[in-house]
Amino acid sequence: MVERTCHHCSEVIASIRTCASCNMVFYCSESCLTHHNADKAGCSKMSYYSQLTPPLLSLPFTFAEETCSETFDDRALINFLKRQGVFNLGLWVRETPLSVLGFLDVLPFGELETVFDPYVLPIEGLALENHPIAPLEAALASWEGYYKWRGFPLSSPIAILLHHVMTVYHILQSSGVASQPESVVLLAGVEKEADLLITFLELSSLLPGKTISVIMVGPSISAKISGNCFKHDNLTVSRYCMTLQEYLRSNHQSCSVDVIICLNAGLAAYTSWRDAIVEIVKRQIRCYITDFCLLSLDMSQQALLSLTLQLESALNHMNMNSDLTSRSSENLSVKLSEPVINPFRCPVRKFCESARFPWFSNAFICELIFC
Ligand SMILES: [Zn+2]
Ligand SMILES: [Zn+2]
Repeated sequence: MVERTCHHCSEVIASIRTCASCNMVFYCSESCLTHHNADKAGCSKMSYYSQLTPPLLSLPFTFAEETCSETFDDRALINFLKRQGVFNLGLWVRETPLSVLGFLDVLPFGELETVFDPYVLPIEGLALENHPIAPLEAALASWEGYYKWRGFPLSSPIAILLHHVMTVYHILQSSGVASQPESVVLLAGVEKEADLLITFLELSSLLPGKTISVIMVGPSISAKISGNCFKHDNLTVSRYCMTLQEYLRSNHQSCSVDVIICLNAGLAAYTSWRDAIVEIVKRQIRCYITDFCLLSLDMSQQALLSLTLQLESALNHMNMNSDLTSRSSENLSVKLSEPVINPFRCPVRKFCESARFPWFSNAFICELIFC
């Protein structure tokens, strides 16, 4: 039995009751439902979010009905990975729920790199170690297209390991950055992607003839591997144990960064983003963020609004440093573009205890707009 909690008070609930207005949130008592309904913005926003559930669940995989179900929790994920023969093996270790591993068992990010058989699945592993037979005729825009090109059956779960790199590919394509002969891509707030370095080799096959440099930065990246640089054909990947703002401030090369990508950013959830956004605004570098759900993006939009107000008021008091005072206050305003659904989102739904929320890793993509 899947454990559910009340959306309002977080108590575990025995028998599930769902708000009849939004049909999204679970509640334990009439009093908690009254609280939720009184918060009109909350309940009507939930109704709006629920409209995007069908397109989010629309994925081509034969296993999607199972992995996108609203009851797909950690236990169901473990059973699924065991049936696929990949549970806690190779790079799939990073997909093992933390509830099983235990917090102390978690290797620092980036230290899993020496695994002998990273993909575990033989057909996928063999294919991904080699360039594809046919070059791409047009940019890929769906998992179906990618699987067809690679010759993978739609029953293969490999998209779970590849969704980070395919999201980066999609952003490079849709932003036009991929059409440049050379590009420097700064991936910020990196955690488990640091261990998926080998999956980023796929960029070399997807964008042949382009010189691509991927720089991963994140304070959770292991200091042991920080500064290591990996080269393969037209691709270079390097990883640094530092925050985005530290990288931008310390590195005089930061002016060569073409695009910053923050995967599953959660701008409102981490206060450290504030300083990073200030550094991005100063340099006006193109920046894309992804997130699990629209609620998190709405909160991010609010956080950016309050940051903009703070920057403007600081400018008015002439307390800003010289970089900023040279710009007009209009340039300090920053917001998110309208979110779009990422075709290369993770095909495994992240379990939500208190609502029928369709959370997926890298579900939505937004651009940071300077205005
Ligand atoms: Zn309650
Ligand atoms: Zn409701």
